[in-house]
Amino acid sequence: MISDRLEKPLASWRGNERYENELLECLTVIFKSGGCTWSACRMCSYRHERYQAESCDLLLDHLRAQLAWVMNEYDPKEYRMVKIFTSGSFFDPQEVPPAFLADVASAFRGKLVIAETRPEFVTEEVLGPFIETLDDGSWKIPLYCAIGLETSNDTIREKCINKGFAFQDFRDAAGRAHTAGAGVKAYLLLKPLFLSEREAVEDMKTSFADTIPFADMISMNPCTVQRNTELEYYWKRGAYRPPYLWSVLTLLAAAPVHVTCDPLGGGQKRGPHNCGTCDYEIVKGIRDYSLSGDRDLIGALLDIACGCKQEWEFVLAKEKPYCMPLTR
Ligand code: SF4
Ligand SMILES: [Zn+2]
Repeated sequence: MISDRLEKPLASWRGNERYENELLECLTVIFKSGGCTWSACRMCSYRHERYQAESCDLLLDHLRAQLAWVMNEYDPKEYRMVKIFTSGSFFDPQEVPPAFLADVASAFRGKLVIAETRPEFVTEEVLGPFIETLDDGSWKIPLYCAIGLETSNDTIREKCINKGFAFQDFRDAAGRAHTAGAGVKAYLLLKPLFLSEREAVEDMKTSFADTIPFADMISMNPCTVQRNTELEYYWKRGAYRPPYLWSVLTLLAAAPVHVTCDPLGGGQKRGPHNCGTCDYEIVKGIRDYSLSGDRDLIGALLDIACGCKQEWEFVLAKEKPYCMPLTR
């Protein structure tokens, strides 16, 4: 059921996405929800975007009103894919009342949906009915669960991110998703807090290799410094620098499969950046590559002659790992 009341989601926009060698018109929606129930990752500020202590019924009203706004604003004929985010997990019943899932599945019937969620909320009981309503036979896989795995390394995920789940949990969730007929998209985080540039690059290479067998799509997110986060606390004290765009390019070139990447805040101090001179061209190139999959473009970008490349090579060679005392 879609509400008569209109209420804007946190954000929504139209764009293009690459899917199985095809470019699809895509609608992205970020619904304001009850908020992430984990709410403890060191780099995340999305979790602050939530309705405060609303009852389940009120929350459902808000969400239905946002869906009504989306259906009113965007002509369904003009997009084939929908990416759904909340301020946490779309399939978390505490954050998004289950009745809303049915509304979304009917509203976007026939679309290819990618919905973000933590792994513990991926269950056949939830995905089964969702897919049944969503699927009109247009897509072999009508739903993808997008999971912020961040890294395949449990120690890094625990100490540097505080994500609260293990690689095995992701693998199990991927199994459940596939059994239910859904696909899996993994988000990997380049350069979490406390890692040197080289450690971050090595971690991403390992994560690619470990994750590919379980995920149908991989997206690499170069870390950005969001407001009101623990990451920002360290960044303000000079204890964190977002990754170099050179690292991003090197990893895209080395990835064994096509990895998409949208460097949010690219070229800015809080986002992945180089020196300020070469950033614009590289950020644009990375976005183009995500859509085209043209590896030659990445090769050409890596060949750009800019003085900061030497600086990056120096950092890779000389930056020392973050040293925490082993004893108190
Ligand atoms: S990154 Fe995801 S799981 Fe972690 S606090 Fe933010 S919304 Fe919650
Ligand atoms: Zn440069």
